[in-house]
Amino acid sequence: MTEPVLLWFRRDLRLADHPALAAAARAGPLIPVFILDEETLRPLGGAARWWLHHALASLSRDLPLVLRRGRAAAVLQQLAAETGASAIYFSRGHEPGEVRQEQEVKAWAGGRGVGLHRHGGVLLHEPETITTGQGTPFKVFTPFSRAVKAAPPRPPKPKAAWTLADPQPPGDTLAQWQLLPARPNWARGFASHWQPGEAGARQRLADFLDEHVAAYARDRDVPARPATSRLSPHLHWGEISPAQIWSATHASMAAAGGLQDEGGGKFLSELIWREFCAHLLFHFPHLTDQPFRAEFANFPWTDDHAAMRRWQRAETGYPLVDAGLRELWITGTMHNRVRMIVASFLVKHLMQHWRQGEAWFWDTLVDADIASNAANWQWVAGSGADAAPFFRIFNPVLQGETFDPDGAYVRRWLPELASVANKHVHAPWTLPEAARPKHYPPPMVDHGAARARALATFKAL
Ligand SMILES: Cc1cc2nc3c(=O)[nH]c(=O)nc-3n(C[C@H](O)[C@H](O)[C@H](O)COP(=O)(O)OP(=O)(O)OC[C@H]3O[C@@H](n4cnc5c(N)ncnc54)[C@H](O)[C@@H]3O)c2cc1C
Repeated sequence: MTEPVLLWFRRDLRLADHPALAAAARAGPLIPVFILDEETLRPLGGAARWWLHHALASLSRDLPLVLRRGRAAAVLQQLAAETGASAIYFSRGHEPGEVRQEQEVKAWAGGRGVGLHRHGGVLLHEPETITTGQGTPFKVFTPFSRAVKAAPPRPPKPKAAWTLADPQPPGDTLAQWQLLPARPNWARGFASHWQPGEAGARQRLADFLDEHVAAYARDRDVPARPATSRLSPHLHWGEISPAQIWSATHASMAAAGGLQDEGGGKFLSELIWREFCAHLLFHFPHLTDQPFRAEFANFPWTDDHAAMRRWQRAETGYPLVDAGLRELWITGTMHNRVRMIVASFLVKHLMQHWRQGEAWFWDTLVDADIASNAANWQWVAGSGADAAPFFRIFNPVLQGETFDPDGAYVRRWLPELASVANKHVHAPWTLPEAARPKHYPPPMVDHGAARARALATFKAL
């Protein structure tokens, strides 16, 4: 009888285009396992826990998973002993915690004759394969992007057929993990915005390619429009692979006879940003806690607890900033342009450390991703790779007037501004006092003064 093999699911919660699953299925009857490892990995934020619950429930309907909790290496060791499995198949991870997991698994399995089979599929390309002419990692996006485009990813594969080992070892129930918020259930609005799981991811991509990609380049910065794919949480959990997106987008562009070239090209370029962030973190694992540009190490960030709370609670008095933070709280996401403005406000207007904003996003975003989150916060702060210069300080009023000219986005998330005329909707304090909305705060800082303070601090650095 063929020995069973362990298929260790990580951030690859799908069945199609899953090289590790395909290889494991060829090798023997499967024991599919997912490990909630909060010892080696960064503990998940609240919104990500909500997502993970539903993603695991969805995958389990097609492939029953053995759920175990603990340090991945110890859990796999235990499972191999319980089941007699002779091999472990898994997708390679690139975050520092995932790399540590693999080192620990390797250290244990090597001496015991348990075969480890590591496969790709999480990224378009493995980080070692996209390098400069000198063989070093790219630190600038444009040449990185050129190198990625010159090396098309492997074509995606359909779902493999498998047999399950019988019996399966026991595991936890999903309910035992208590991933969903209870009292209060702050995620009750999420379900109307998201469908976690592989089917939801495929549907999102199909809808985006059918209806939105053609206008993506034009509309992607307009937060009131449903112009972007909203694939990021699906990508984070591997419910769809970047190779599937790459291939489907090219096929859609070819079928559209040029009509989608601009939008499709821009969309793929964003997918390459995800890749850039992941490669950066792999090569520079301190990206999460240290400035990528060393001169920022001595930046005198302030630590103003009250200011941080006002920002988190969407009470800054700047409508575009508050609308973004409200959108985040209600839906678990925030439009990309608004993320940049909200982040810039925190680090430049309030001079709070970007790590504090990163931590809030980690807790509240359904797409919370160590690489993309840290790289983008550092990008906004000016301390990151290929970052926006520190002296480019977003004016939240002008940004609102440019990208949300009729106030549709801010009114959607801030109903207290519903009756404010377009002319004032991004700066309600410019209304005569008696006409100002009663339940909306005045700006917590003056834009001009905050900008001057940030620039002076930067200059002194
Ligand atoms: C301060 C800040 C923090 C962020 N934190 C995260 C995070 O934790 N997780 C996350 O996935 N994205 C993060 N982003 C990037 C970006 O905002 C989201 O990926 C995007 O808004 C997701 O929406 P979408 O899927 O509709 O994107 P689309 O516009 O449809 O883009 C397609 C895909 O490209 C990738 N992508 C797009 N923009 C970026 C970018 N700037 N950096 C990296 N990848 C990108 C995403 O995977 C996205 O799903 C952050 C951006 C900022 C400014």
